[in-house]
Amino acid sequence: MQVRRADAMGMCFGVRDALAAIEQVDEPGTVTIHGELVHNGEVLQMLANRGFQQSGEDLRDVPITEGVLITAHGVSNRERRKLRAAGKQLLDTTCPLVHKAHEAAQLLEAEGRRVIVIGRPDHVEVRGIVEDLQNAVVVKTEQDVVTWPEQALGVVCQTTTPSERVDCILLAIRRANGHADVRLIDTVCNPTKARGAALEALLPQVDALVVVGGSDSNNTRQLVLRGERRGIPTLHIENASELVPEWFFGREVVGLTAGTSTLPATIDAVHEQLIRLAAEVVPSSS
Ligand code: SF4
Repeated sequence: MQVRRADAMGMCFGVRDALAAIEQVDEPGTVTIHGELVHNGEVLQMLANRGFQQSGEDLRDVPITEGVLITAHGVSNRERRKLRAAGKQLLDTTCPLVHKAHEAAQLLEAEGRRVIVIGRPDHVEVRGIVEDLQNAVVVKTEQDVVTWPEQALGVVCQTTTPSERVDCILLAIRRANGHADVRLIDTVCNPTKARGAALEALLPQVDALVVVGGSDSNNTRQLVLRGERRGIPTLHIENASELVPEWFFGREVVGLTAGTSTLPATIDAVHEQLIRLAAEVVPSSS
C-alpha cells in the first residue's frame, strides 16, 4: 500500500493566525473564547487545559470574563457592539477573508439587493453575516431556493462552501428568479478552493481516502463528501488513534487530506501511522 498526500491540505492562515494570537494571551483565565475557535476537538481541549473559558456556539450570553476573544469565524457588528457596551475588551481574530464576506454582503444590500447567503444557517460565520443585514436569507441546498419578489438579488457564500455547490445553487437561484438581476460576489476563500482542487487532483490516483479533521468542521465534511461522491471509500478521522488496520486491507493507494483547522502535528501523526500500516499490515505490491 502507498500513501499519497494532497498537495494542499490542513491548517489555513486564518486559523494559524488566530492560534498565534491566542498563544500571546498571558492570562487565559480572564478571557472567554466567544464561539468555537475551530471545529477541532484537540485544539479546543488544548485551550481548555490552558484555562480559557469557552462560550460555545450559540453566543446567547455575554461572557463573564473581562476579555472576549472573537474567533476566526467572526461575529456580527451588532454582537461586537453588545460586547463593548457590556465593557468587554475584545481580542479580534476574525479571518480577513471572513471580513471580506461581511463587506460583500453589506455592499450588495447597499445596492438595494436582497442578500442570499449560500451556507449552513446554523454556522457561526453565517449567523454573523446575516445578523447585520435587514432581510437576508440562507440557502443550504438547491431545495431551499424559492422565487423571491425582489427585482435585485445579491449572493455571497460561507467561506468554506465548495465552489461546485455555489455553481449549482446559483444556477437554481437564476432559474427560479428569471425576473431578477442576480449578482454573485464569490466569497469562498482561497485556502478552501486550493484544498478542494488538490483533492480533485488526488482522487483519480487513489482507491481509498483518509480525511483528518474535526467531526463538526464544515470544510472537513466537504472533503469527505468529495471522496464519497467519486465512489472512493473515505475514512473521516480526528487523529491517528482512530485508524483501524482492517479498513486498509486490499487497498493499493491511500490518499491523505485534512481540513483547514487540523494541526500539522496531527496530520503528520496520521501520515506516519499510515506508513506503518502500509509496511506492517498491508505490504505494498509495488
Ligand atoms: S477557512 Fe478560509 S475563511 Fe476560514 S479561517 Fe481559513 S482562510 Fe479564513
